[in-house]
Amino acid sequence: MAIGYITHHDCQLHDMGHHHPEQPARLSAISDRLIASGLDMVLHHFDAPLAERAMLERVHEAAYVDEIFAAAPQAEGLVWVDGDTAMNRHSLDAALRAAGGVAQGVDLVVEGRLRQAFCAVRPPGHHAERDRAMGFCLFNNIAVGAYQALEAHGLQRVAIVDFDVHHGNGTEDIVSGDQRVLFCSTFQHPFYPHSGFGETAANVVNVPLPAGTGSLGFREAVEAHWLPRLDAFEPQLIMISAGFDAHQADDMAGMKLVDADYAWVTRRLCELADRHAQGRIVSALEGGYELHALARSVEAHLKAFLGDS
Ligand SMILES: [Zn+2]
Repeated sequence: MAIGYITHHDCQLHDMGHHHPEQPARLSAISDRLIASGLDMVLHHFDAPLAERAMLERVHEAAYVDEIFAAAPQAEGLVWVDGDTAMNRHSLDAALRAAGGVAQGVDLVVEGRLRQAFCAVRPPGHHAERDRAMGFCLFNNIAVGAYQALEAHGLQRVAIVDFDVHHGNGTEDIVSGDQRVLFCSTFQHPFYPHSGFGETAANVVNVPLPAGTGSLGFREAVEAHWLPRLDAFEPQLIMISAGFDAHQADDMAGMKLVDADYAWVTRRLCELADRHAQGRIVSALEGGYELHALARSVEAHLKAFLGDS
């Protein structure tokens, strides 16, 4: 059954400056790799729509949404909304496409038009809290998607899993205490954003991993901490905050995953989705800054959707 690839040209125009690691080239590297591998031809392509304001306000304070709209520059130049997060004149549209693309992925998958969807969008979202931009993120795309499933489609249980090397503090901030959502996260600890340890809500499964963790440690953590909780939760939809910056080639952090680990974790999540969710998965790009490793890892992730790993 069909796998969707959702993106938009606006997401390439969001540019935080030459030396910023969260750069437009990330999306072209992914797209080039998918074309070269032939995978591009089997994917169903969609242009991400702009998120509606009501979708954003399910997960963000209205005043915060106003703040981001107001901050968006009309002319050349950058406006910094956080120490490492800036907006150029295309960023607002890119952020609206990123959130709108994930919501569209949910629509297409829940309506049965796609089995899985991958949203190649930027800015990423998992650091964006209810009322705060942070860590290259403006709107929390994955949370917008999860609440689209809950509020617009009436699903009762949605799982969000996050294998980005950074803790998804924004997602935790938004979903914490909402028993309709199970949030599972692996991340390097101690590390930015210095959250995800200590007491957490019952619907949050945080798995901090030390720098240097490789395939074995990651897979053991997923098997011990994620999979049993996900099985017990019986999600009707699985959403993935797909960050690829725990790759050993990515010097953003110090974890040592390889391409095959992304295929492996994706297969485990597909098995869960097959058991509980009619195979339904919506995945959205978060981090991943070493362009070659990023592109190969996305390819491995998508091939695993096809059962090809
Ligand atoms: Zn990250």
